[in-house]
Amino acid sequence: MRLTYLKLETFMIKIARTRADEVGCDDCAKHSARLVDALMQGNVNEQELQDLLLHVLQCLPCAEEFQILRDCARMDTEDSWPSEDALWRKIEREG
Ligand SMILES: [Zn+2]
Repeated sequence: MRLTYLKLETFMIKIARTRADEVGCDDCAKHSARLVDALMQGNVNEQELQDLLLHVLQCLPCAEEFQILRDCARMDTEDSWPSEDALWRKIEREG
């Protein structure tokens, strides 16, 4: 009985530790801009950023959000935002 209890306790501690290290969607949303910056610079050496990236790769909603952020960052860098006219034409065509 005592052994089982101890085992269970160890198990709980392990779960708690895993959870503490795990990046959640909230963390992801908070830091995704930083991750985009890091990726654009090709510098993702920080453990924290790697954990974030891992979450993005495993979590579909975060992956979609991240994709949009990265597209925006890329257009910023390349200065390739569509012109206002082009945007309106696109909206009219699709509407
Ligand atoms: Zn997520």
